[in-house]
Amino acid sequence: MNTMNANVAASAATSELDLARIRADFPILAREIKGKPLIYVDNAATTQKPRQVIERLTHYYTHENANIHRGVHTLSGEATAAYEDARRCVQRFVNAADEREIVFTRGTTEAVNLVAQSWARPQLGPDDEILITALEHHSNIVPWQMVCEQTGARLVVAPIDDDGALLMDEFAALLNERTRLVAAVHVSNALGTVNPVAEIVRLAHAAGAVVLLDGAQASVHEPLDVQALGCDFYAFSGHKAFGPTGVGVLYGRAALLEAMPPWQGGGDMIKVVRFSHSEYNDIPYKFEAGTPNIAGGLGLAAALDYFAALDFDAVQRHEHALLEAATARAHAVPGLRIIGSAAHKVGVLSFSIEGVHPQDLGTLLDHHGIAIRTGHHCAMPVMERFGVPGTARVSFALYNTLEEVEQVFDALEKVRTMLVD
Ligand code: PMP
Repeated sequence: MNTMNANVAASAATSELDLARIRADFPILAREIKGKPLIYVDNAATTQKPRQVIERLTHYYTHENANIHRGVHTLSGEATAAYEDARRCVQRFVNAADEREIVFTRGTTEAVNLVAQSWARPQLGPDDEILITALEHHSNIVPWQMVCEQTGARLVVAPIDDDGALLMDEFAALLNERTRLVAAVHVSNALGTVNPVAEIVRLAHAAGAVVLLDGAQASVHEPLDVQALGCDFYAFSGHKAFGPTGVGVLYGRAALLEAMPPWQGGGDMIKVVRFSHSEYNDIPYKFEAGTPNIAGGLGLAAALDYFAALDFDAVQRHEHALLEAATARAHAVPGLRIIGSAAHKVGVLSFSIEGVHPQDLGTLLDHHGIAIRTGHHCAMPVMERFGVPGTARVSFALYNTLEEVEQVFDALEKVRTMLVD
């Protein structure tokens, strides 16, 4: 047995998940980087893809490739059926009441921009407020700033405490009759904080506001049930859920989507086009102008099917064990400051080390085959809140092992000694 397999076997003994089998599903994990086995702990940037997803893409392009919705030939019919099956797969995954509530997008960013331009822009005016949290990714800040510039509405930010947890009393106090929309991250990609989203939705609805949740970092780490959450919109990206890049989802309550004007115009989003007037298609197609990422949609469905077949509670317990082990090791590193220690976190560990630039740390860890992320993680206001330009971030997915955690921190200690002493 080589070292890697021995490590996986050891970790399997401490996890309810069949880690050896799971890891074998992700071909890239067998790679070596600079002569060392790859340790991929940059999952909050993007997850790796199981062969079930890779094979789905290959199968589509090898056997089914055709444009959807408009063709009468067999291939087009098959591709259309597969794409609409993928929509139903997403519907089941998020537990939406109606498949028409699932809009395929390029990702979370496009989903948020769609709501900003199609729901918020036509509705809001100078007396209105959009309430976000201090934990947001840039893609749940900038689209609202743009809407505020376009409408005169005001962007209000609910603060977080020194652990990186949302201050719920302050959040509640900021809600008022002017609050038309609450846009909140479900899980922070920068700190790992899990927001109390059900409570956020309850308070926001009581104040008469519509709620969008950014689920990019939550979709395969926290339970996801849009009906139980009661949110009006929920956005997530395929690539952070073991699926392909360039595809994502906007869930929207049917009544809201029906009342919204289209965002982008073009093919597929219309029923009739005349020079005098065009008639728009029904939801969700009204929001899906142009040829979509067909293979991406199929790949996303394959990813969600793959994930749904696992024991979700066991996945959560495993990722939590990884976080606990990493946090314990981090506490023992001289000069290491953990940034983000909320009581409810997913497997994301952000930190800075005194006297060490995060980028140097990331570069030197790469020489050990270890992929971490360094920088502002597209959450500059979070970095500002903690007075750092950026952090080093280790983020886990279900295929990571406890031995990898040890190896990451063994390497990190060596690198720190090199850089500091
Ligand atoms: N929100 C959060 C919390 C994220 O982590 C990300 C991706 N890092 C995004 C939004 C944006 O997602 P995408 O780049 O896939 O559109």
